[in-house]
Amino acid sequence: MKKIAVFPGSFDPLTVGHESLINRGLEIFDKIIIAVGVNSEKRGFLPIEKRLELIKTVFKSQERVIVKTYSNLTVDFCIENGATHILRGLRTSADFEYERAIAQVNRLMKPEVDSIFLLSHPEYSSVSSSLVREIVHYKGDARKFLPSSIDFEYFFGYKPENK
Ligand code: ADP
Repeated sequence: MKKIAVFPGSFDPLTVGHESLINRGLEIFDKIIIAVGVNSEKRGFLPIEKRLELIKTVFKSQERVIVKTYSNLTVDFCIENGATHILRGLRTSADFEYERAIAQVNRLMKPEVDSIFLLSHPEYSSVSSSLVREIVHYKGDARKFLPSSIDFEYFFGYKPENK
């Protein structure tokens, strides 16, 4: 049986931290579904279509990674997609406390879906989408924190080296 994990998040935008976690997850799971949560009340930074396009660009040659949007409960999305696990990353003890509560409640709701956590790569433990958004807001050079395969100017609308 193929082991499928759902990696849920906002991915606004996907960073090198996410990329590394997904690549490590592929050593454990046969397939990873990157599930971009759609929240109709929150506009976000990059529009959903751009977030999906960015993720697809990064994993275009990895057929074991697929990208979808979802707007229901993560556990229900897992069951609909034949996934047995939710993959999440842990950077700090604050992440742990937050994730513990969610994972335990998820398990109470649907015991057939379990959560699995990978510690962030030490080099990426301070990298977050919000940090990238802050740098981009001030038109700084955020390329170090984003997957190297993306065209920065296309996604963020400016050339950082000109600043
Ligand atoms: P959310 O808003 O659901 O936290 P994110 O897109 O910020 O969505 O994060 C999705 C997942 O990726 C979370 O499990 C988060 O802990 C993990 N993650 C984010 N940044 C990193 C990183 N630098 N290293 C490892 N995991 C990360």
